[in-house]
Amino acid sequence: MADKIYDDTVFKGLGVSPGIAIGKAFLFAQMEARAAYYNLADDTQIKNEIERLKQAIAKSIEQIEVIKTNLLGFEVKDPIYILEMYAAMLRDESFVERTTQNIRNERVNAEWAVGMTVDAYAEIFSKLDNDYIRSRISDVQDIGKRIIWNLAGEKQHHLPEGESPVIIVARDLSPADTAQMKIDRVQGFVTDMGSSTSHTTIVARSLEIPAVVGMEKISQAIRTNDTVIVDGTAGLVIVNPSPELIRRYEARRRDYLIARSEMLVSAKQPAITVDGYRMQIGCNIEFAEEIPSAIEHGAEGIGLYRTEFLYINRHSLASQEEHRINYESVIGVPPLEWATIRTFDLGGDKFFSDPKLAKEMNPQMGLRAIRFCLKEKEIFKEQLRAILGAAHRGTTRILFPMISGVEEIRETKKILNGVKTEILSQGVVIPQDIDIGIMIEVPSAVVMADELAHEVDFFSIGTNDLIQYALAIDRINEHVHYLYEPLHPAVLRLIRTVVIAGHKANIRVAMCGEMAGDPLNTLILLALRIDELSMYPLAIPRVKKIIRRASLQEADALFARVIHLSSAKEIRGLVEEYMWDNFADILPARDV
Ligand code: PEP
Ligand code: MG
Repeated sequence: MADKIYDDTVFKGLGVSPGIAIGKAFLFAQMEARAAYYNLADDTQIKNEIERLKQAIAKSIEQIEVIKTNLLGFEVKDPIYILEMYAAMLRDESFVERTTQNIRNERVNAEWAVGMTVDAYAEIFSKLDNDYIRSRISDVQDIGKRIIWNLAGEKQHHLPEGESPVIIVARDLSPADTAQMKIDRVQGFVTDMGSSTSHTTIVARSLEIPAVVGMEKISQAIRTNDTVIVDGTAGLVIVNPSPELIRRYEARRRDYLIARSEMLVSAKQPAITVDGYRMQIGCNIEFAEEIPSAIEHGAEGIGLYRTEFLYINRHSLASQEEHRINYESVIGVPPLEWATIRTFDLGGDKFFSDPKLAKEMNPQMGLRAIRFCLKEKEIFKEQLRAILGAAHRGTTRILFPMISGVEEIRETKKILNGVKTEILSQGVVIPQDIDIGIMIEVPSAVVMADELAHEVDFFSIGTNDLIQYALAIDRINEHVHYLYEPLHPAVLRLIRTVVIAGHKANIRVAMCGEMAGDPLNTLILLALRIDELSMYPLAIPRVKKIIRRASLQEADALFARVIHLSSAKEIRGLVEEYMWDNFADILPARDV
């Protein structure tokens, strides 16, 4: 019976990337370097462990050779070079010898012995006065992970051979994990962890792949090859559904695709309310490859280019030239009218394999974003040179993340001006009209918004982090996601403060957090008089359509009703009721 199966196997999570996928599950295990420890009792066990180690090393070499061969057809020198180095290290007698000795002398299992060797290498490398060698620590660690992973045996890390599409099920996916998959074979993502603003979500949205996250233990409930339905709009995952349910969801999938293409018909019309307020609509992108889709979905400019994604799956810093070429591909692409390049927001839950960004206890509040750039000035200057060098292509805005007060933006501008002077003297032509902006995503920046407004040409409110810091909710922790509420009265007041301060100083105020792309929020954001909303491309047609049907007058009336309420629940209740009463045909389907 369809209903019986339906009841038994429906899981509810957070639908974070819309659409429906139906296919076979593939359980993805991240390479973990967490090695078990146990003592070896006798010489036979020691012999066995050494044998296991040899086999795991041989297997690792084999895998690296396969990856290398797969890459040969592409123009990628760096990865091949790194893989060659990996293979050389695995064949290196002293690495093997040292690990074997650990097994013999310390009487520990092979996994633990590998960990000891990796730690010893890392220690030696970190003491050397040579940046290049120090930056190789992460490579040794990667090799260690691979051997340990091969020792563990049963886990799967690469998609199975073949062409058939799969639904990836995992505890969590880092941006690097998603990037290394053959994305054209991935139909859907399902993860235990994550929230609507975690970077897994951001990547799934940018790749337009349906995703449900924050499912807590689903990776234990699904097995590879189970049939799975992922409803990224409703936030449902259905495991081993009956044929009847599959038929229903296939129909739903067709409806979704039809509705999407209908939305696209009007997507390019501007977002002007019936009483004449024009909202600029930008897109958030992580990869230059998303630009055609953003244009198709009606983006008028690039409101946020997350440049740190250049570092996906890299083990070395990109060169200035690579950056410049990349920025040239996102600036001045018609019909997009502007490109906002955000400088690196490395750290937090973003990446990374560079040892300079060693694991921190509290990374969201650690050496992240502008703090990292102001510390690692040479890396920052390279990026600024590259942006300025690419700016001749079209209207460019530079956006600095995580600014918390005036000192930081002043120091940042000083570095920017220094770089400008330097490259002007080398004959590089820099356009006059590059706007400088800051993300408003730290509560102190809201409080200081009136002062900060005199330092820059525009603000962009990053609600993902602003909500995280203001309401003290870890944006990647599924357990506190229920508290994440963009319509919280505190959040609305913070946004209002920013807009008032910005407009008083005659600067534009944009919003580029995920809050901007949720059509349920659109009227409230109109009432707040945000000048530009920037969102993931798929969200654009709906938000634009709502704006075209709405009036400022009704937005203000709705806002006047909610701003005096003191509870988030009441505000959401009222806003949702209003939106469903007046815009139901534009909003995404609510439930199954
Ligand atoms: C934000 O914090 O709202 C934002 C847009 O930046 P990111 O999600 O990249 O941290
Ligand atoms: Mg942010």
